[in-house]
Amino acid sequence: MRLTWEPMTLKLATAFNIAHGSYTERHNVLARLEHDGLTGLGEAAVVPYLGESREGVTAYLAQATDALGDDPWLIEDILDRLPDGSHAAQSALSLCLYDLHGQRLGQPLWRLWGLNPARAPLTSVTIGIDTAEAMAAQARALNAPILKVKLGGPDDLPLVRAIRAVTDATLRVDANAGWSRETALALLPALADLGVEFVEQPLAMDDVAGLRWLKARSPLPLFADEAVRSAGGVAGLVGAVDGVVVKLAKFGGLREARRAIDLAHALDMQVMLSCMVESTLGVSAAAHLAPLCEHADLDGPLLIADDPFRGMAYAGARLMLPTGPGLGVTAH
Ligand SMILES: [Mg+2]
Repeated sequence: MRLTWEPMTLKLATAFNIAHGSYTERHNVLARLEHDGLTGLGEAAVVPYLGESREGVTAYLAQATDALGDDPWLIEDILDRLPDGSHAAQSALSLCLYDLHGQRLGQPLWRLWGLNPARAPLTSVTIGIDTAEAMAAQARALNAPILKVKLGGPDDLPLVRAIRAVTDATLRVDANAGWSRETALALLPALADLGVEFVEQPLAMDDVAGLRWLKARSPLPLFADEAVRSAGGVAGLVGAVDGVVVKLAKFGGLREARRAIDLAHALDMQVMLSCMVESTLGVSAAAHLAPLCEHADLDGPLLIADDPFRGMAYAGARLMLPTGPGLGVTAH
């Protein structure tokens, strides 16, 4: 097997502001795994607040090349051999392997896994932090059935009020670890009054005790995102949250994401399948798992101005899963 990679810089359609920072482009990495005339594709979504960098991803891929071996059917063995390190790079490798797998068998991954694409939940679309007027204008312009509102600033309630004033859409909020316990406790009843469906990562990512404390007092379901980065981490959140946010780049790929989904369900927790700012390549890979999840937040390609790939598509908020073999993704 021959592994190669190259930088993949994605320009955002508009600057994206969240509690972790502001971005106008993302510096992801495209991986290609060639074997027997076929090429598996993978994307490493580089998220600085998770400690990832493009240099770290490429260094990992160079280091991991020896672990790949020469039999791409043995995905489990290969993934077991991968060294510890960049989850974004591990995810890219897992995408390459499963893409090759599906291409060789001539079926999309959702079909190999026995999933029904019609069961994929509708996706939310994200509104980044801005002025109340700008966020309300965006809510009106998006005209989507589910909006995910980024919060985590000093004065969040007016932002949600302004959005609610212009839309009846289902609203979810994501504080991106931006609130203290006291702030969260004060905000949650007001957010419930505004019809918010659930709240994502209200507290600092390592404050699991705080989540447990807040959940006992919260009128709204709580979901953990930054607080969970592995399937095993799901178990530690029982009683602290109602659901977990699963992202391929965070968990290190399709196998670990699937483990997390299954474990969350076994522990009576819900799953929101989400993505980073990544192209149709990375988000299509996630979409193959969408029929297993209660909620979807797969809007990465909608935030990008120059998406290099074609694969999953949107019919409004409905996810149209790829029908081509493997990931079902091709370059434009
Ligand atoms: Mg989040």
